[in-house]
Amino acid sequence: MQTCPKCKKGQMIIKVQDFTCGKKFKENDCLDMQIDCIHCDGTGEVSDEKLASIKETDRFIAEEMCSCDNPTFGSYPQDGECSCGMYKHHVHCGNCGKISQIG
Ligand SMILES: [Zn+2]
Ligand SMILES: [Zn+2]
Ligand SMILES: [Zn+2]
Repeated sequence: MQTCPKCKKGQMIIKVQDFTCGKKFKENDCLDMQIDCIHCDGTGEVSDEKLASIKETDRFIAEEMCSCDNPTFGSYPQDGECSCGMYKHHVHCGNCGKISQIG
């Protein structure tokens, strides 16, 4: 097993800006929420295969994400429709053709 690169001892902090318990927070209200790491299921350790897949995803994101200062709205393929390798629906930047937004 390998130490999970995505968390500290199995816990990760996510920003929550959403509905919680049926109550909507004010806009721009953002909560830090501590959850079990989604990569290692809160164990703090991942298998060699899992570590490789995390690194592969990071590499993909680092290489394929747009870093334009002002990305323009290019194409917006739905789940599974794009040939770039990203399954989830996402936005391609009109300047550089890379992914400017996921989901
Ligand atoms: Zn983890
Ligand atoms: Zn771009
Ligand atoms: Zn794409």
